[in-house]
Amino acid sequence: MNIGLGIPDAPPPTLAPRRRTRQLMVGNVGVGSDHPISVQSMTTTKTHDVNATLQQIAQLTASGCDIVRVACPKTIDAEALPIIAKKSPIPVIADIHFQPKYIFAAIDAGCAAVRVNPGNIKEFDGRVKEVAQAAGDAGIPIRIGVNGGSLDARLLKKYGKATPEALVESALWEAGLFEEHGFGDIKISVKHSDPVVMVEAYRKLAEQCDYPLHLGVTEAGPAFQGTIKSSVAFGALLSQGIGDTIRVSLSADPVEEIKVGDQILQSMNLRPRKLEIVSCPSCGRAQVDVYKLAEEVTAGLEGMEFPLRVAVMGCVVNGPGEARDADLGVASGNGKGQIFVKGEVIKTVPEAKIVETLIEEAMRIAEEQGLEEVEGTRPEVKVTQ
Ligand code: SF4
Repeated sequence: MNIGLGIPDAPPPTLAPRRRTRQLMVGNVGVGSDHPISVQSMTTTKTHDVNATLQQIAQLTASGCDIVRVACPKTIDAEALPIIAKKSPIPVIADIHFQPKYIFAAIDAGCAAVRVNPGNIKEFDGRVKEVAQAAGDAGIPIRIGVNGGSLDARLLKKYGKATPEALVESALWEAGLFEEHGFGDIKISVKHSDPVVMVEAYRKLAEQCDYPLHLGVTEAGPAFQGTIKSSVAFGALLSQGIGDTIRVSLSADPVEEIKVGDQILQSMNLRPRKLEIVSCPSCGRAQVDVYKLAEEVTAGLEGMEFPLRVAVMGCVVNGPGEARDADLGVASGNGKGQIFVKGEVIKTVPEAKIVETLIEEAMRIAEEQGLEEVEGTRPEVKVTQ
């Protein structure tokens, strides 16, 4: 029999339409409501170590990073920017704190954009005219990156701490200065380490402007905590259509940030879903180590670009039924695994063969999908019974 895969004919629904924003380009990546939400990260290498930085950028690119940011704390880092900007396969944003001169160095270096932190750049307000002129001449956008930990002293005094209102006022004040000088190619972030403050700040900001917004929970913490904080905060905002680029900040390898960011967008149907493992939580009925099996299947299919939902179920009682919406799956019991496609059992294999059989079947489906794409028709999997 022929069974259609679970690949949708139309784009899957999202929770809200994107908030309308002005559009801008960061290198060749479009940013704003007309463009897909992009995932960013930041290198952890010393920027002046050009080889190490380019190597990390290559790893980030391979993991799906759309735009990368590099720090520029010293002159030697600024001097490395031209070659990094030239050789990076993805757009490079220079991240500037404290020293206004590095803003101009980054623009001259050919960076795709510059992030400025108005809270800690010396006499930034007085330099906005020059920055606007230089960025305008180079045709690159500026991200005004306000951060709860380095809020402008004037606003800190006014509000007592980095409240949502203070973060928004700081960002819009700086944006207003750029606009006064005829520069509107602006993206804004108002990051805070507390997801509640951060969400509130972005919501307020979204009501008051049409700039594209870069989402981030700053200093979100180690991988587990940072993933949760970022997921809930981004989820709250993205579910309202707010957010045009995202960065998950983790005290971990930046590649992990990309994986988490990508998964958040996939989970919300804001990016096409790729591999999705649907595994049961296990229970007293389980006749196999579900956690181990799910891990092995995940590892075996890692990197698969094909949109496949694979179910890993601990028993045959509910297995195929629970995973009817999956493209491919296994339900285990009595030392065997029932392999099924769209809820139909296609074969039964010994437990030791489950992982390799699932991988083989996944590859077969992916190949058939590839062929069908060439022929321009909806994919079907042939199931022999
Ligand atoms: S599939 Fe079976 S083992 Fe897994 S949770 Fe459901 S009943 Fe329990």
